[in-house]
Amino acid sequence: MTKPATTTQAGAPIASDTHSLTVGADGPTVLHDHYLVEKIAAFNRERVPERNPHAKGGGAFGEFVVTEDVSAYTRAAVFQPGATSETLIRFSSVAGEQGSPDTWRDVRGFSLRMYSEEGNLDIVGNNTPTFFLRDAIKFPDFIHSQKRLADSGLRDPDMQWDFWTLSPESAHQVTYLMGDRGLPLSWRHMNGYGSHTYSWINAAGEVFWVKYHFISQQGVEAMSNEEAEQLAGSDADHYRRDLFRSIADGEFPKWDLYVQIMPYDEAKDYRFNPFDLTKTISKKDYPRIKVGTLTLNRNPENFFAQIEQAAFSPSNQVPGTGISPDKMLMGRIFAYPDAQRHRIGPNYNQLPVNQPHASEARNYQHEGSMRYQFNDAAHRTYQPNSYGAAGGPEADPSKGIEVNWEADGEIQRSAATLHAEDDDFGQPGTLYRDVFDGEQRARFLETLTGQGRSITVDAIRERFFQYWTNVDAELGAALRDRV
Ligand code: NDP
Repeated sequence: MTKPATTTQAGAPIASDTHSLTVGADGPTVLHDHYLVEKIAAFNRERVPERNPHAKGGGAFGEFVVTEDVSAYTRAAVFQPGATSETLIRFSSVAGEQGSPDTWRDVRGFSLRMYSEEGNLDIVGNNTPTFFLRDAIKFPDFIHSQKRLADSGLRDPDMQWDFWTLSPESAHQVTYLMGDRGLPLSWRHMNGYGSHTYSWINAAGEVFWVKYHFISQQGVEAMSNEEAEQLAGSDADHYRRDLFRSIADGEFPKWDLYVQIMPYDEAKDYRFNPFDLTKTISKKDYPRIKVGTLTLNRNPENFFAQIEQAAFSPSNQVPGTGISPDKMLMGRIFAYPDAQRHRIGPNYNQLPVNQPHASEARNYQHEGSMRYQFNDAAHRTYQPNSYGAAGGPEADPSKGIEVNWEADGEIQRSAATLHAEDDDFGQPGTLYRDVFDGEQRARFLETLTGQGRSITVDAIRERFFQYWTNVDAELGAALRDRV
């Protein structure tokens, strides 16, 4: 079979992919070899800026099937009994860059999109139910402390522990991270959490606060520090390879989606501030309710087009779901689409992986860099207009259901309100004493001893001891002893 002719991007056949045009066999290369110029210029532009953070990741497509009836809490079509939605997921590490080893201890991103008939719903969370911070204004500082020093370009334990110990709200997430769940066996062996409190609204207009928990059917399993270190050298892409291989082999990973549901009025007096991302809502108070099952069953055909350019955002909500007054979440509503406008361009939502698949985007936004979708000529570029259906769409409040909440008070800068049992060290103390078993506590102490020994600044090491003493006095004393 003869191969088709290679062409330029403009479709004209080219003479050679091997020899550039030169003056004589050994002479200078000429600039009018436009195919050479086009080929090198395209190569120079192959990379888009990597995400900052969550640069290294992998993902797959699948489906989410609602197996239970949660219609009492939400009217969203995607969560109605029996609904089946195409999904896209991207797993990632937070701190490292594109080429970083998958098995560096880190929080893992768990970003899920459901392509629903009412638009794309993105649940952009982590394998942790909490986070290091409770206010988005600290986020750039936090990520800087996890990245690299300005002069040497090296990652630095002093910088990480300096930030963490000066930010006591980080203690819950750091306890989770330094425990077994900071080194998952694979992406398949971890749970995913929406982390923030989100909101749902039912057909009667009642609002609920909701936490999303994706519980792995593969079980939650970890690897040891030694295994992780060895894999970081021998197979930096261990998680990415594991996911791709398991799906290619027909071993489809599954997660069951559960939600915790809090009636709207109970948020005000709940013992923990439910809009503080450093806290969990106790399952003893709000047990998990099953919704359905997510199955990953299709690998990407092209990693760059479908995973690297996948642009998730918690601002992608649908009628029946919404956000909450969590200050981290409100910051992300701006930050995520803004990051993708920068990385990919203002029309990133037109890319096949980002377009709605089960609904349609219709509005008066037009033009801008790389726009290729356009409206019929009769469609006006403004609204209101007097041209009826041909002139373009019209907002329909009966369809565009939003979840809103009451707020009052003067505009100010302050910490989130403390509820009855809120402090920075209570929940991490519970996690360490009541949830970790003896072996997990021993491994945790081992990991923290290594961390403590890597700190070179006395004042930071002292704060490190105090931070862990605040979580648990015996733990603090043991660390002081061993480090
Ligand atoms: P529960 O006893 O009902 O929940 C404890 C949960 O901890 C488990 O269900 C499990 O969550 C999770 N867990 C188990 N082992 C580990 C581990 N090695 N590292 C991290 N998490 C683990 O009590 P509460 O709901 O009252 O929560 C108590 C504490 O548990 C919280 O302070 C928090 O630190 C932690 N936790 C709570 C979660 C929540 O949403 N309520 C979720 C995860 C942790 P899972 O079933 O999701 O794997």
